[in-house]
Amino acid sequence: MKDRFAGSRAHQDRAKQSLAGGVATAFRASQKPVPICFERGSGARLVDVDGNEYIDYALAFGPMLLGHSPRVVVDAVQHQLATGLGYGACHRAEAELAEAICRTVPSAERVVFGSTGSEAVHAAIRIARAATGRRRIVKFLGHYHGWLDSIHIGVPGTTGRDPGTAGQDPQAAESITVCDWNDPAALQAVLAEDVAAVIMEPVNVNGGCLTPQAGYLEKVRDMTHRAGALLIFDEVITGFRLSLGGAQSALGVMPDLTILGKALGGGFPISAVCGSRDVMEEAASFRVAHVGTFNANPICTAAAIAAVTYMEQHEADMYGRLAALTTALTAALHNAGAHAELPITVNTVTGVVQPFVSPSPVVNYADTIAADGATLRRFTAALLEVGVHVIPKGLMYLSAAHTEADVEATAAGAAVAAVRVASEGRNL
Ligand code: PMP
Repeated sequence: MKDRFAGSRAHQDRAKQSLAGGVATAFRASQKPVPICFERGSGARLVDVDGNEYIDYALAFGPMLLGHSPRVVVDAVQHQLATGLGYGACHRAEAELAEAICRTVPSAERVVFGSTGSEAVHAAIRIARAATGRRRIVKFLGHYHGWLDSIHIGVPGTTGRDPGTAGQDPQAAESITVCDWNDPAALQAVLAEDVAAVIMEPVNVNGGCLTPQAGYLEKVRDMTHRAGALLIFDEVITGFRLSLGGAQSALGVMPDLTILGKALGGGFPISAVCGSRDVMEEAASFRVAHVGTFNANPICTAAAIAAVTYMEQHEADMYGRLAALTTALTAALHNAGAHAELPITVNTVTGVVQPFVSPSPVVNYADTIAADGATLRRFTAALLEVGVHVIPKGLMYLSAAHTEADVEATAAGAAVAAVRVASEGRNL
């Protein structure tokens, strides 16, 4: 039988000879049967080096909210390419993009830019410490805020509070307290007077698309106010995805600082920290050093202005469609599981779908750890065989480029994949 993935396997063999581990980010290494090597992407589709076409729900781990190579972003970048790649100096578009963020993100009054989410998290924490004169940061178990030493503990998939990786300076995260999420009493117990900020994913997408319980975010907002600590929403995933104004707009709770990345750039690497004028005064006054060679470079800025402008102009239509497609995709996965007698349960918010193999609902982080991850990974591998590309741990993102027909085709593919996996037996 012909090997569908022969080209990807050959690429891995070659890449491993020079590229450490054969992948450029460790998350890609877990893809089965082999990390797929892609050749091109357009809209909701990707094509790999073997010529296989996929409906893509990985969306480059989230940034491609407008699909692959969206026309408006490509045009804006092409125009900018001919005009200048970077000046290391002021240009009009950086203020234009900051204005667009202040218009769309409800709690934003001032903005600073970076290139990646990890970097923006770092900047936000620095601003919070400077603004409060305090040191401790509370983060939550199973929430991800990038790979830097000072925050990379209690990461998704782990249950401990140890450093997330070999080589990490254990002292760098000494001033981080890891707390259980969705548990006001647990937070109250650690909200001492040395806490500068509480940082969270307002919807814990990285932990399993877990949503805040009714009233939880409001309580955290109130508790942080009373404790004199800042509230930081890491909206690297949820920003522009849950709604134009992100999770804070969709859920109606305003943080002091917000971190944006991924979808902001329409596929280009740009991130931002934004917040109230008062808190951001630390950066505005230059008391906090916020620097970076590529900050707000004209190429990424042009891409982000194009992306945000598109989302503003198409807000009503785009988010309504995203919500409807999310519902349809969720139903497709449920039906596939039910038909195959594979216990698939799905966590979801607008534009995000996370299936689990679990006989009971997955409502908290402990449930995600208890779910049958091995069978889920076999399901995502089986989806690849039927032309559906998802993040190996099952996470699926929708974009403005997906259509009802894409989701219908995915439903048919998921049904086949679920039957195949069920016939091989589960790992529970
Ligand atoms: N915060 C969150 C919530 C994220 O999901 C990520 C990346 N997945 C980051 C921060 C780090 O972003 P980056 O990979 O761009 O450094």
